[in-house]
Amino acid sequence: MPELPEVETVARGLRQAILGRRIISVSLGKTDFIDDPAALEEHLPGRRFEAVERYGKFMLLRLSAVNGDTRVAPTGDPAPASLLVHLGMTGQIAPSPAAQPLEKHTHVCLLLDDGRELRYTDARRFGRIAYLTKALLAEELTGFGADPLEVSKEEFADRICGRRARIKALLLDQSVLRGVGNIYADESLWKAKIHPARLGAKLSRKEAEKLRRALQEILQKAIVLRGSSISDFLDAEGEPGEYQRHHRAYGREGKNCYRCKTPVRRAIVAGRSSYFCPTCQPSPRGSAALPLAGKNGRKTKRRDAEKSPRRNGKSW
Ligand SMILES: [Zn+2]
Repeated sequence: MPELPEVETVARGLRQAILGRRIISVSLGKTDFIDDPAALEEHLPGRRFEAVERYGKFMLLRLSAVNGDTRVAPTGDPAPASLLVHLGMTGQIAPSPAAQPLEKHTHVCLLLDDGRELRYTDARRFGRIAYLTKALLAEELTGFGADPLEVSKEEFADRICGRRARIKALLLDQSVLRGVGNIYADESLWKAKIHPARLGAKLSRKEAEKLRRALQEILQKAIVLRGSSISDFLDAEGEPGEYQRHHRAYGREGKNCYRCKTPVRRAIVAGRSSYFCPTCQPSPRGSAALPLAGKNGRKTKRRDAEKSPRRNGKSW
């Protein structure tokens, strides 16, 4: 699942590609991942893209009022609105020339005023698209935690150190921090030398600060390298990211730790495969790694089950 660096990469690409463009028309394929498909068809045409923002693991495409339209929506909202785009596991969004044949699994096409189409493709349709008025957007954004790139030393420690949950679970919990997923949680814990199963409450404030710095350094470096392409992540130009070459823990079970040469181990923490070095990241009492996967070892593939503050039946 795309995490903060991948979503930031896509958002930056879209900013270059579609800012200022007006939507002419909307055509939809399968719509089971769209909150209110009729709202897209009714409200998008005539609006311009005014900004592309990342919020946690989703994007907000900010839309102008419809040209010359000063109506106020029945909800009392002023006309500007937002399109929320969450890429789920396999979502991709990018502009294409309208004449170019549609890729398989293209479910949303927004015809733009420069002859291109902004297309959303999603093979597994775990993503989400929603047209949000100002009021719906405000409701959507309540309950999310701090942005890990902006969170202060004090706020980070406050959000982590008082909690009786495992640090891995806290990093994944979108109401604690927004935007961190399995890859960058494991990478930052490895860098900070903290075992994923330790309790937030057992971390010193010094350790919390070490973790915050590791997380920020890793996220920033991953953004520069345009994210990690694990399965099929592509940016808005259709290019894969490069940060996967710099992974030090994630996906490296049985391979030597880059610091101490001990084989990296895997354990299930917070319901997720968690990779760590048993030497550099000492385990709390009672926490065991899974046996190293040998030839007959099971390769676990799990769906992202990160805790989201909004529970509407979706796993994000
Ligand atoms: Zn090590």
